[in-house]
Amino acid sequence: MASERPEVLILGGGFAGLACAAALAEGGRRVLVLDKKPHLGGRAYSFDDPAVGSVDNGQHLFMGCYRATRRFLRLIGTEDRLEIPPEVVVDYAEPGGRRDRLSCPSWLPAPLHLAAGLLGLKGVPLKDKLTLLAFDQALKAMKKGPVPEAVERLTVRGWLTGLGLSPAFQARFFDPAAIGILNESPELASAAGFVQALREMFFTGRESSRFALARVGLSQLYTDAARGFIEARGGRVISTAKAAGLIVEGGRVRGAVTDMGSRFEAEHTVSTLPPWDLKKLELPAALRGPWGDLAPAPIVGATLRLDRAVMSERFVGLLGTKTHWVFNKNALHGLPGPEQTLAVVISGAHEAVRWSPERVLETATRDLTACLPGFAAAKVTGAKVVKEPFATLSPVPGAEAKRPEPGSGMAGFSFAGDWTRTGLPATIESACASAFTVADKIN
Ligand SMILES: Cc1cc2nc3c(=O)[nH]c(=O)nc-3n(C[C@H](O)[C@H](O)[C@H](O)COP(=O)(O)OP(=O)(O)OC[C@H]3O[C@@H](n4cnc5c(N)ncnc54)[C@H](O)[C@@H]3O)c2cc1C
Repeated sequence: MASERPEVLILGGGFAGLACAAALAEGGRRVLVLDKKPHLGGRAYSFDDPAVGSVDNGQHLFMGCYRATRRFLRLIGTEDRLEIPPEVVVDYAEPGGRRDRLSCPSWLPAPLHLAAGLLGLKGVPLKDKLTLLAFDQALKAMKKGPVPEAVERLTVRGWLTGLGLSPAFQARFFDPAAIGILNESPELASAAGFVQALREMFFTGRESSRFALARVGLSQLYTDAARGFIEARGGRVISTAKAAGLIVEGGRVRGAVTDMGSRFEAEHTVSTLPPWDLKKLELPAALRGPWGDLAPAPIVGATLRLDRAVMSERFVGLLGTKTHWVFNKNALHGLPGPEQTLAVVISGAHEAVRWSPERVLETATRDLTACLPGFAAAKVTGAKVVKEPFATLSPVPGAEAKRPEPGSGMAGFSFAGDWTRTGLPATIESACASAFTVADKIN
């Protein structure tokens, strides 16, 4: 069975490729997944580091509204490795140690619980909070369907300011949310992705706005289990196999060739490669398009091992610092004390991606010292910096229209991956949503 010609060839073994392969294998299709790297997981994986142990390539946050992602994890039997606490609580810390908390009462229906949470923020004057009404109305008007072009053309900053939201309100709630969701600063990111994410989170049920975090490293969350699931159904997964071009015969894609000259033929080929990798392949003209101009946005992260605990929250948003978020890996992964492992994130890191690892660590320790009172006394016993220059699609105005629909392409070929036009920002959920769209079409 394993050596038979595959029915579906899937390029890329990240969330999209593995979810698509798993769904097709479940539907009885013979699949073959090729990935250029020695490990699976693409932009979301873990590895062992001598200084800090198992490290994710960057902290990933999931949401209750990640329905396709949860469907994939349920399929491969690992959904319980995601923890989704019922309460929606976000703690914020500022230099000087000042604290704020967004706490959305779980007994209130969405989106009222968010309104209650926002009204409870300490650092925003009441008159500023009254502008929430205009925000609520604007979002409700775009509850479903494509985001209007006029909004797509605006940046997050332009849209929020146009709705009358004060700079203080934006800085305390909207900016951290936007940069976290879109991986791009509110000055650069289109409002479209923000609208897409907020309406999923707040208009699609009570559970949607809950934050979900993996109890295990990312590879343990899905890559090993997905490979096992696919192989148990007669599929194959080949690592260190870099696709170099597509085989096109009679106006139909018939498979792919690798840079080592191996030919893999199949009735259908699905690409889950990000646009910056896909455009390097030898492709028929029919598949080229404006998507080739889509650009990436970087994320820089660091894992710090400390000799003692300095925070008890699962994660804290840092306000007014270069570092955006800090996650408590002991709380997330159930690691024993007295040491503590923290993961910090700098999103939209166009500047930090050019820094040396030492400078990233200096910045993170300075920010943590300023915001977490216990940090100064702690000793950093190990650290690992990971720079991901191609972390996500940069969702600038104009990008949305360049994203091809998942499942589009040409005879024998489908586009998939987080960057395809799923109606969502280019996240894990978009990757998995694209995967199921394509698999459902082929199955
Ligand atoms: C540091 C970081 C933090 C992030 N945080 C979050 C978060 O909190 N929440 C969230 O939802 N999303 C987050 N993301 C984004 C998320 O990781 C991606 O949206 C998702 O992993 C994309 O999955 P994918 O399968 O579409 O693409 P990829 O994971 O990029 O998979 C594509 C695969 O194709 C392979 N490939 C490329 N070229 C070739 C070739 N020529 N031949 C064969 N294989 C090839 C690659 O090796 C890769 O494995 C983050 C990303 C990073 C980097």
